[in-house]
Amino acid sequence: MKALDELTFDNRFARLGDAFSTHVLPEPLDAPRLVVASEAAMALLDLDPAVAETPVFAELFGGHKLWAEAEPRAMIYSGHQFGGYTPQLGDGRGLLLGEVYNQAGEHWDLHLKGAGMTPYSRMGDGRAVLRSSIREFLASEALHALGIPSSRALCVIGSDTPVWREKQERGAMVLRMAHSHIRFGHFEYFYYTKKPEQQAQLAEHVLNLHYPECREQPEPYLAMFREIVERNAELIAKWQAYGFCHGVMNTDNMSILGITFDFGPFAFLDDFDAHFICNHSDHEGRYSFSNQVPIGQWNLSALAQALTPFISVDALKEALGLYLPLYQANYLDLMRRRLGLTIAEDDDQQLVERLLKLMQNSGVDYTLFFRRLGDESAALAVARLRDDFVDLAGFDAWAEQYKARVERDGEFSQEQRRARMHAVNPLYILRNYLAQNAIVAAESGDYSEVRRLHAVLSKPFEEQAGMGQYAQRPPDWGKHLEISCSS
Ligand code: AMP
Ligand code: MG
Repeated sequence: MKALDELTFDNRFARLGDAFSTHVLPEPLDAPRLVVASEAAMALLDLDPAVAETPVFAELFGGHKLWAEAEPRAMIYSGHQFGGYTPQLGDGRGLLLGEVYNQAGEHWDLHLKGAGMTPYSRMGDGRAVLRSSIREFLASEALHALGIPSSRALCVIGSDTPVWREKQERGAMVLRMAHSHIRFGHFEYFYYTKKPEQQAQLAEHVLNLHYPECREQPEPYLAMFREIVERNAELIAKWQAYGFCHGVMNTDNMSILGITFDFGPFAFLDDFDAHFICNHSDHEGRYSFSNQVPIGQWNLSALAQALTPFISVDALKEALGLYLPLYQANYLDLMRRRLGLTIAEDDDQQLVERLLKLMQNSGVDYTLFFRRLGDESAALAVARLRDDFVDLAGFDAWAEQYKARVERDGEFSQEQRRARMHAVNPLYILRNYLAQNAIVAAESGDYSEVRRLHAVLSKPFEEQAGMGQYAQRPPDWGKHLEISCSS
């Protein structure tokens, strides 16, 4: 266990130089205080959890203090936003403080979001509000606990600093962690500004740090791109299987590591709705729930375009061709598990699609359906779940198909079935209304609800005593919350 001043830094991205990032110091928040910290994330830095409660913790992550070895930098990138190219973005309010390595030899980028203005702030104030910082914190840690790759969050620091959005709010900072903060948009920036040398430097950096095994391949850059395609196909399969809607899949929000990255108006589905749009400024539904699959490919194509100086177009196209079949195989595999099935059959895709159509028509709760399906034998569970469906004949036909399918799958005791299904079907997910309750309390200075919700979501598959209220469908007021896109 380490104290805060014992972190070991190595700032390899900063050393790439001023063509890649700009030195900027954090702008401190007034009266910084701990809102919530993740013990699990602290453990990744070997930090003693007790240090979160010390004043120096809030000072460090509220922008007042810095380690002598930290080299805070605002990164430069660009990206396609809602389909159109924006030539220059960059960290407008976040700073890469440095790369810390832990005792296991892993490197973690420490990124302070809401740290004040940078040369890339454009019209923004460089700040993040408490509400969006809490949402990013809860989502990243909850996704990780579900087994969905994501950036992590160490803590949220609240403050008295006034920040103006639709109304006056308070500034906050979230300390984000990831093995890399490099986005598709980093490659696009150097491609569109026609800087092949820096583009190559960036590609070498990513290859050396994050895809060293690709060096062994005859075409290392191509092998790396293939790996990025694969990781994204796997990631988006998980989003779709667990009902996560990212909301702003611009290429500047896509990580080259294939992790969930940059949280805005995201949502987990309550009722199953393939057409769900969580971002209220997304009028055309470009980033609707079901569009995440083709958009994943669109974004990879944008990255492929930026890699044309290094890889032949034919090879890039071939690698892009891996995306959909891989997505489909991963998604089906996850859905089979969610249904409690252990072997694959040809009709499985149809079984899943029929179920989702029925859920869509009846507005069935996506998370609770699968959880309850595992509570009992297939026959008892479908008999009980039947009441949630409007199209009873349709559901009965599906239930017959499902029961026969379960029968063919093999002989398992009900204990085995439950254990297997509950291990992949969460009881608790980050519903928008739960986040909203925690935010309302936190905005009035009570952080206990954020902390409790974080604790519940850190063990989403485990039923926790006294936490039944976190495993309910939303109340009427919480069903279609308009989550502000401002953050
Ligand atoms: P986002 O929509 O959060 O992914 O941000 C898109 C771009 O806008 C990034 O370059 C951000 O750094 C920048 N940005 C977002 N909010 C602010 C803000 N309040 N101040 C400065 N830059 C911002
Ligand atoms: Mg972003």
